[in-house]
Amino acid sequence: MIQLKNSAQISLMREAGRITGEALLVAREHVRPGISTKELDTLIRSYIEKCGAKPSFLGYGGFPGSACISINDEVIHGIPSKDRILQEGDVVKIDVGAFYKGFHGDSARTIPVGNVSEDALRLIEVTRNSFFCGVAAVKVGGRIGDVGHAIQSCVEQAGFSVVKRYIGHGIGHELHESPDVPNFGTAGRGTRLCAGMALAIEPMVNIGSEEVYELADGWTVKTRDKSLSAHYENTVALTSDGVVITTLVDQSW
Ligand code: MG
Ligand code: MG
Repeated sequence: MIQLKNSAQISLMREAGRITGEALLVAREHVRPGISTKELDTLIRSYIEKCGAKPSFLGYGGFPGSACISINDEVIHGIPSKDRILQEGDVVKIDVGAFYKGFHGDSARTIPVGNVSEDALRLIEVTRNSFFCGVAAVKVGGRIGDVGHAIQSCVEQAGFSVVKRYIGHGIGHELHESPDVPNFGTAGRGTRLCAGMALAIEPMVNIGSEEVYELADGWTVKTRDKSLSAHYENTVALTSDGVVITTLVDQSW
């Protein structure tokens, strides 16, 4: 069942979202060659806890980190480790959740480490653009399929592929709620969008094929063909006055 949020609840979601977004800004400041993904995770956890919030992912389904940190051909759900050191030319995906006053924020960014290839920069840009194409389709009376169709069209026009095995989701009191929010679909189909819905919209985009697989660690998802992957996510609330992107604290990022 879809849990609709009233305006007071959406205000609380904005607070949770702001903390989530700020934790990503903290991480961005520290991304550089030589830092481990565990160090980034610790910085993120410290920031969230300093704000009086809890990291949504820590212990979720047994996940051992506060953030999912995935490098290059890792798509999502990378486990922070002191042995994973960022290298010049990597692209790192950092996915963060914060739980505050009963509500979650969920947001991810892909960050270049030092100088990266033109292809990597273009992948990051297209993935971000595809999110905003999706958001433009979030309207009262619209459909979930409108959102997925917009994301998929943006990505495929650029010659990249959308990961279909993992999708976005409703969000609120729980990190993952109804409805499912696929990054692909048919316009005019699927659940009708209405005021009070909160959605985590999160395109995962590969330079090569959409095929992915999960590592034996039970978490890390990688591209089958070892091509680069990017991820961009924000928590979005639909109100009668329009869309609020709760986790977007730097409008240009
Ligand atoms: Mg996320
Ligand atoms: Mg999510």
